[in-house]
Amino acid sequence: MSRANLVTVRIDLGGTTTRVGILDIEMKMLGNRTLPTRVAAGPEAVVGDMVESVLSLLNCPAGEGKTYVPLGIGIGSPGPINLRTGVLGLLANFPGWDGFPLWDALIEATGLPVILESDANAAAIAEWKLGAGKTTGLLSMAMLTIGTGVGSGLILNGEVWQGMFGMAGEVGHSTIIPEGLLCSCGSCGCLEMYASANGLIRLARAVAATHETEELRKLTGGKNEFTPLQAAQLAQAGDRSAQLAFDQLGTYLGIGIANLISTLDLPLIVVGGGVATAWPLFVDSMFTSVLDHSLVYRLMAPSQRLEIGHGHTFICQAVLGPSAGLLGGALLPHLHGLVEPTLLSHTAQEVAN
Ligand SMILES: [Zn+2]
Repeated sequence: MSRANLVTVRIDLGGTTTRVGILDIEMKMLGNRTLPTRVAAGPEAVVGDMVESVLSLLNCPAGEGKTYVPLGIGIGSPGPINLRTGVLGLLANFPGWDGFPLWDALIEATGLPVILESDANAAAIAEWKLGAGKTTGLLSMAMLTIGTGVGSGLILNGEVWQGMFGMAGEVGHSTIIPEGLLCSCGSCGCLEMYASANGLIRLARAVAATHETEELRKLTGGKNEFTPLQAAQLAQAGDRSAQLAFDQLGTYLGIGIANLISTLDLPLIVVGGGVATAWPLFVDSMFTSVLDHSLVYRLMAPSQRLEIGHGHTFICQAVLGPSAGLLGGALLPHLHGLVEPTLLSHTAQEVAN
């Protein structure tokens, strides 16, 4: 069998769209599809859509007499998901999907080896191998993905830490205010109730209700729908109240990061996801909060803001952007030995295209 025909498949399951791609064993993209995730049609239908796309990509002629031979599939799924069994938990944006055996369903439908990770773990793997951690040689790091909620991925001593029971990475549901807002998980004051896109919207509404702020009140008033990006534009334009909402987000995020550092003493914390693009708006309050809430971080200060290095925790923005999860999915077959070791020499951009 020619090496030229060997490919891997990556799948990124999202609440709105699902992305499927095939790559050669040097991680060069050969073809990809983006399809709507038919959440209401149920998980079996969506797995059917994925498999149809995979087969269609595999059957695309790659040249004279060439056929693709798939070695395996890497898939990133929203959590909570039991990574030991591949069974979905109670997912916020997937009503009725809890208890679905995603892993088994994909194996059964394709007959291929399937490597399953949470989307947050997949993003962490990508930042570790191809992004913020790429040139560091570090064996341990954490990544927080701040989108609608807060996901997290942990790399410890060169391996993804899935937890004893496959449920690690739910730092978004760690409590930072015991008497805080009621979360969909049943607890109160979870990190993602404050330091997330939805959290920022709540914070901006609260600031608008209690401060003299014509512009922010206009944006958030009544039942107005608005996005964190709109609030960020207001803050960037100098609106102090909008800036205050981001300051507060940074403070809460800093508590979550401080707890991670105090518990795990990690050399690198990467912050990604859509809200992370507003980094300059919350980074000052975030660093202040980390210093205030982590003794370990204080003891290792003070140059951590300036450069990555030995002897202190470095906290930085993700570098791969929204494609991190996809890139991580593409890396999974390599990290799990389905592909003979390669140098992963292609740049992240080449893999993303
Ligand atoms: Zn919660």
